[in-house]
Amino acid sequence: MIAVSACLLGINCKYNGNNNENEKVVNYLKNKKFVLICPEQLGGLSTPRNPAEIINGDGYNAINNESKIVDKNNRDVSSEFIKGANESLKIAKIYGCREAILKEGSPSCGCNFIYDGSFSGKKINGVGITTALFRKNGIKVISETEL
Ligand code: SF4
Repeated sequence: MIAVSACLLGINCKYNGNNNENEKVVNYLKNKKFVLICPEQLGGLSTPRNPAEIINGDGYNAINNESKIVDKNNRDVSSEFIKGANESLKIAKIYGCREAILKEGSPSCGCNFIYDGSFSGKKINGVGITTALFRKNGIKVISETEL
């Protein structure tokens, strides 16, 4: 069973109300068992919502309470992001997921890079909060770019 970022399959759960449908992911999952997650919705955030970035660190720092997550209006949304990661993990465990395909670059789902917290589009190496929590719990996470 594979946990998949819902936006990659065309669900309109992205911050701007759109999705990140990816044909490669859609084709890869044909005839496979998977479950969709959107950590930010599971954390109680609305759709659409303001974009958010991790300040001073990545998902590993965030789950250790060393970094916070703020949205573009400077609202602290750390608790929603952490809750969303935990709820996603709960779902992954219920379904016995050993792997996940999550959306690259997202502060929740990023696998190799995220944005640097300046809302200027600058990328840094690091992972999102849900990716960090999944990996910490032994779930193999790749992004749609690694398929
Ligand atoms: S939190 Fe993850 S699944 Fe939800 S919209 Fe963002 S990248 Fe997609």
